[in-house]
Amino acid sequence: MPEENNSDQPNKPEPEASASAIFVAMMRQAAAKAVSKPAASADGDDSVPDLADPASEGEVSLEPPPESHDIRRVRRRLILRRPHPSSMAGGFFGAIFVVVLSTALVATLLMFFIDPEFVNPAVARGLQLNGDGVVAGAADVRPTPGGTPHWLRRIGIISGHRGKGASGGRDPGAICQDVYGNPFLTEADINFAVATRVVASLESMNYAVELLDEYDPRLHDYRADALVSLHANTCYDFGEYVSGFIVAISEARPDFGADAFLRECIGENFGAQVPLPRSYNVTEDMTQYHVWRKIHPLTPGTILEMGYMLADQAVLTEDPDRLARAVTAGILCFIENVGKPHTRLQADQGAGGYVIPLLPTSTPIFRS
Ligand SMILES: [Zn+2]
Repeated sequence: MPEENNSDQPNKPEPEASASAIFVAMMRQAAAKAVSKPAASADGDDSVPDLADPASEGEVSLEPPPESHDIRRVRRRLILRRPHPSSMAGGFFGAIFVVVLSTALVATLLMFFIDPEFVNPAVARGLQLNGDGVVAGAADVRPTPGGTPHWLRRIGIISGHRGKGASGGRDPGAICQDVYGNPFLTEADINFAVATRVVASLESMNYAVELLDEYDPRLHDYRADALVSLHANTCYDFGEYVSGFIVAISEARPDFGADAFLRECIGENFGAQVPLPRSYNVTEDMTQYHVWRKIHPLTPGTILEMGYMLADQAVLTEDPDRLARAVTAGILCFIENVGKPHTRLQADQGAGGYVIPLLPTSTPIFRS
């Protein structure tokens, strides 16, 4: 560091060295006054030279001691670098001002120098508004003649009791047991056999279909054109012949809306294709079904108990294809006719107010 030694050279001009020495002396005195008031709280630290030390105070003279060079240089830096809060904020806003000003300036200049043909004429035309304030070209867009394409129609199928139950464990649903108490038929298996066939069938018709578990996380705020939950009824022996399928909707939904139309489409088509009577033994398990509290309010939903696992066991197990065809036909009945004038339901007429299309039994079934 050649610069450090310059002031020690004998041929160095005296006035400059004296001026800095006077400055250092002044600063020392000022620092000594300032430090003496807080009673030198950091006395224990001996490595740092104590500016308030009386011993060093006595050495103050016009000739700077050799060890004071470093201190002097540090002090100068500290003085020069002392932050000014007002200047930081000022610099920040000043920089923004400069950027905004220069941007406006450049934009104004470019406006004069760029050729109008620089922008593609087609793009320029598209950016212009016509007299009605409508973007030009928008009038050329016409609705698709065929309506909403199938792949935009979303259908959810809940395979009843599939996946984890409400308590987190496995939930087979209703169970049929033999005379030794061993289960030989579970509701979950019946539901799954039908649900997978319905999903495969609707997918083959290019619908967007989702196979959902009983407590599927996707059911929260679930949005679809239709949601059908497939179940089978208890295997309990009531001591009498209890048979039939049941369709129900949420008690929170009106009996003349889309949900009721979906329910009637399923009921009419299932009854037409499956040799079981329709039962109206609707329970709170169906009208207060947990799914109804989760799905989006505008998603039409219905729950189907396809039959009783004791009396209707043969129908439920021997031909799942037939059950799936009936459910699929019911869903198509709803999807293809909901919102059309002839399907509008009179509020005071119940199910009799519907005109329910019965679909042919040729609905394709593709095994998955
Ligand atoms: Zn069930």
